[in-house]
Amino acid sequence: MLIKNGKVLIFEGEDVKVKDLDLRIEGENITKISQNIEAKENENVIDAKDSVVMPGLINTHAHISMSIFRGTFEGCNLYTWLHEKIWPIEDKLTEETVYNATMVSILEMISTGTTCVSDHYFFSKQIRKALEESGMRTAITRVLMDSDGEEASNKRIQEFIELYETRDINNDLITYTVAPHSFYTCSGKVLQKSRELADEYNLPVHVHFLESIDEIEDIKKIHGQEAIDVLRKYFDGVHTILAHGVKLNDRDVEILSKMDCGIVHNPISNMRLGCKIADITKYMKKGINVSLGTDGQGSGNNLDMFEAMKIAGLIQGGIHENEEKVSAKDVIQMATINGAKILGLEDKIGSIEEGKKADIIIVDISKSLNNIKMMPNNDIISNLVYNTDGRNVTTTIVNGKVLMENRNIKNMNTEEILNRI
Ligand SMILES: [Zn+2]
Repeated sequence: MLIKNGKVLIFEGEDVKVKDLDLRIEGENITKISQNIEAKENENVIDAKDSVVMPGLINTHAHISMSIFRGTFEGCNLYTWLHEKIWPIEDKLTEETVYNATMVSILEMISTGTTCVSDHYFFSKQIRKALEESGMRTAITRVLMDSDGEEASNKRIQEFIELYETRDINNDLITYTVAPHSFYTCSGKVLQKSRELADEYNLPVHVHFLESIDEIEDIKKIHGQEAIDVLRKYFDGVHTILAHGVKLNDRDVEILSKMDCGIVHNPISNMRLGCKIADITKYMKKGINVSLGTDGQGSGNNLDMFEAMKIAGLIQGGIHENEEKVSAKDVIQMATINGAKILGLEDKIGSIEEGKKADIIIVDISKSLNNIKMMPNNDIISNLVYNTDGRNVTTTIVNGKVLMENRNIKNMNTEEILNRI
């Protein structure tokens, strides 16, 4: 396949640039990036004229089955939302509902430019089945916790082991994480078990970390230590994916900057649940890898990573007055290469480079009324962050396979999926 005439977004050192280039995909991989590549006989040519060709977006913290909670329970704080609203309903979910809800989210992701997602949920075999059918790239898990007792906890651990042991070793689109829910829902016993599983299977740990003010005291009550010391006690030396990191103090940031970890920033979810704003400008200045997530639709509203990019770029100005803060270029990296790094997939995805997997999206920037917010297009990167939304994505390619072309989803029946949910 040849993608011609596009403006290709590439990383040069710390910089982000857009250049007029063509690129060839053979099998799963990008094999050539150059100007004016001649099409071979019978080669499938995608014309990317008036479009940006960029790395597929990587959503590094989501609960994709939560599409069914979209638009519900407005105005709750995190604890009320979880304890009184979400968990009682989740207790009653069925495998079928989770599968159907996952399918809706897969449509949402493919059609808004996300090519890889790191999920955090249960009924994970159903989620895996849906993802396998779709051709998306993902990191999945079975969430662990024991705040409701040991029996339920042991069942979860068994389900995780079974999920991992039944993986298809030939399918490298799907990777795995070990996922204790959080330090306020997991005792030391579950955290210790999580550590053992991470060591045994050589997997990263994906955990909610200092999302809201309420958990700070609860963690001290359960563990007799602050969250950062609990993290060090159980997960020192393991790569950790820390979702949120809103309530980090200076000591936390200092310690995290020396650990093998990254923070997933979920700005929309954090604001919807009244958790305040993570100071990612500070974290990044300290050298901590920060990537981007949407969280589930119940708190994050949707899985459109362009929306998450826009909000992430803007809200740092709400906490940094007259100071240097994250730029549009930083935000693009958060949604792509930083996400690949946090998942340990930076050798395969996250940027458009020869030899990497072809996880690519094509974004319409043509001179049209649809794109009036971008006109005149003085700065493509600024417009990608602040004036683009998922509906501008025309074509989505994962692992060299076209999953959406000219906004037509391939191999999935959109109408049937939406009717089912
Ligand atoms: Zn979450």
